[in-house]
Amino acid sequence: MSDVRNVIIIGSGPAGYTAALYTARASLKPLVFEGAVTAGGALMNTTEVENFPGFRDGIMGPDLMDNMRAQAERFGAELVPDDVVAVDLTGEIKTVTDTAGTVHRAKAVIVTTGSQHRKLGLPNEDALSGRGVSWCATCDGFFFKDHDIAVVGGGDTAIEEATFLSRFAKSVTIVHRRDTLRASKAMQERAFADPKISFAWDSEVTEIHGEQKLTGLTLRDTKTGATRELPATGLFIAVGHDPRTELFKGQLELDDEGYLKVDAPSTRTNLTGVFGAGDVVDHTYRQAITAAGTGCSAALDAERFLSALA
Ligand code: FAD
Repeated sequence: MSDVRNVIIIGSGPAGYTAALYTARASLKPLVFEGAVTAGGALMNTTEVENFPGFRDGIMGPDLMDNMRAQAERFGAELVPDDVVAVDLTGEIKTVTDTAGTVHRAKAVIVTTGSQHRKLGLPNEDALSGRGVSWCATCDGFFFKDHDIAVVGGGDTAIEEATFLSRFAKSVTIVHRRDTLRASKAMQERAFADPKISFAWDSEVTEIHGEQKLTGLTLRDTKTGATRELPATGLFIAVGHDPRTELFKGQLELDDEGYLKVDAPSTRTNLTGVFGAGDVVDHTYRQAITAAGTGCSAALDAERFLSALA
């Protein structure tokens, strides 16, 4: 059994590394579980990031995350590229178990495990991520000026993304499996009234084409099975997100969609000494800068909690 640490951080995206930086600079010697496969978080899977302040000419996602990692390490954060597989967060001393079965103990835990965007599960999807395929219109819309774009989904997010993208795009086709949308009436009306937006009803994407860049899609009619080609150089997938909270079920309070509940504007969860930040909490903004911002808040909340214990 390890010594009791001040703070353990689970997750290594912008939220986790920012929490690590702040707690390290407060001499709390944080232990950070970065995740075994996806250390660095969601931005490791993208190319250019143009909206993170401080990088006038933009920065590649993996470079941004390497910088954040190195900055946290410079101040003494201990970084472990491993998954946490079990937690007990209920007592005064929290325990966190890694894949080797080692149990780590801490007085405070910061949860920054992010959320996973749902994929279509098609062969070319990951290879063309950042090369025409995207999950975030706010992040990438600007790159698609005068492009023909397809948006997959029928809920609020899909329609909001389509409406936003129509500012930049030549055309936006909303590809939806059914013949009605789930999005709110007001949002639907805005989309129907937009001359750049059209609909591929009862349709699903079955193939994503392109080598270095997206060139088009194959759509299948969900009623007749007929297929057709849709030329597109942008594909925005808006079929939902799954917050990574499986590990915390039964201990931390989650909302109906599985996101971690915090006592906003603080980052306190329902358990004393446990804090949550980034996309695992946030289903509204989902940006690197907001994740980093709440990561900072979680570190400051944890710091105050620990100093009250002393
Ligand atoms: P994440 O970055 O998702 O990191 C979560 C981390 O937790 C991961 O490292 C994961 O390995 C780790 N983890 C999960 N479970 C465990 C566990 N059990 N044990 C240990 N570790 C665990 N935002 C922008 O602002 N600008 C952009 O240009 C932009 N582009 C994007 C492009 C793509 C393709 C994607 C997917 C997202 C993009 N975003 C962009 C959104 C941005 O990446 C996210 O909002 C941000 O990364 C969220 O940060 P986070 O720290 O909350 O979570």
